[in-house]
Amino acid sequence: MAVPQNKITRSKRNMRRAHDALVAANPAECTNCGELKRPHHVCPSCGHYDDREVVAIADEIDLDDEDAA
Ligand SMILES: [Zn+2]
Repeated sequence: MAVPQNKITRSKRNMRRAHDALVAANPAECTNCGELKRPHHVCPSCGHYDDREVVAIADEIDLDDEDAA
C-alpha cells in the first residue's frame, strides 16, 4: 500500500482544505409555474424549459399498484 513519505503539516492540510467549502445552490424561478428550479435545467415540477413544455409530467404514479408488476 502506498504510504505518504512526509507528514502533511496542519498548515499545508488547511491550505488544501481552503477550497473545499460547499457553495450554496443558486435556484432560479420557473417562468411557467414559479417553482424554484436549477438554472439551465428543465423545471422538475412542470416540465417546462424556456416557456416550452419539453417533458410531460405524469399526474400521479402509484407505486403500490398491484398491476404494475
Ligand atoms: Zn415550472
